[in-house]
Amino acid sequence: MKLHVNEEFSFKVKTIIKKGIFYTLLLSGFMYGSYKSGKDYCDEHPEYRYEDISNNDYNEEVDEEIEEEIEKEMQESIKEEVKVIEGINETINNNIIKNDERKVVAITFDDGPGSYTDRLLDILKENNVKVTFFVLGKNVLKYPDVVKRAYDEGHEICIHGYSHKYYTDKDPNTGEERGLGIKGTREEIVTTYNILREIDVEPQPYVRPPGGKVTDEIVQNIDYAFFKWSVDTRDWESRNKDKIKEIIYRDIENGSIVLQHDIHECSVDATEEYLPTLTSDYKFVTISELFNELDNDLEICNLYRNAKVKEKQLSY
Ligand SMILES: [Zn+2]
Repeated sequence: MKLHVNEEFSFKVKTIIKKGIFYTLLLSGFMYGSYKSGKDYCDEHPEYRYEDISNNDYNEEVDEEIEEEIEKEMQESIKEEVKVIEGINETINNNIIKNDERKVVAITFDDGPGSYTDRLLDILKENNVKVTFFVLGKNVLKYPDVVKRAYDEGHEICIHGYSHKYYTDKDPNTGEERGLGIKGTREEIVTTYNILREIDVEPQPYVRPPGGKVTDEIVQNIDYAFFKWSVDTRDWESRNKDKIKEIIYRDIENGSIVLQHDIHECSVDATEEYLPTLTSDYKFVTISELFNELDNDLEICNLYRNAKVKEKQLSY
């Protein structure tokens, strides 16, 4: 019985093993067949093989062409957008110019250039403001690059003198004339003019007499337009930026000529603070522009304190 059972068991095991081998062979054959037919198909149609698709030169070229096309289109659209933005900006700028009803004021700086002038030029550039410098020849020799920079950046360069000696002066005790007079004044102006021409700066034919001291005789005998001022910041006296600002806020009006000195740091500090707060109401311009804006004629051998405003005649 035991043996019989064993024989029966052994038979069953053998049958299972035989069936297992059969099905394994059948499955292997099927798998090989699938592989073989797939391989054959791929061999016949290489374009469907994954490797061939990814590494195909033709496809790379197509990809590059598509990329180039896309990039081209993007650049075109960017160009179009830039054109639109430029157009809008131009319209805005034109409207600002056409509708600019700000009052015009000329800021002038005397006695420079000095060690603060370069910083002043940075501030003016930041605020997009042009001013007028009445320079001293002896200081132009010390800071030629600064004067050239001011000139190149569109500021007006004019002459104050060479040494800052007064064109005219009377001895307070004797009442005697001890100024430069016509001949001495002319020499100071010509010397400074030549120094400026040496550094390729063409000054305007405008002068400001040191201390504002001048006689009718000097004005009428020198072929320059002479300028005083209508707003005196007295920066040289107070050396206080807040006082300078106070005077400017209080006194400037349409056609004003403001007197400052770029050799004093306080005056440069004040300019840095008042410019951004005033540019919405005032357009700061050079002396030439001031007279132009208000339709005033500038003539040599004349003395000016400001530019005349039609609706409100200011005294000369
Ligand atoms: Zn001066």
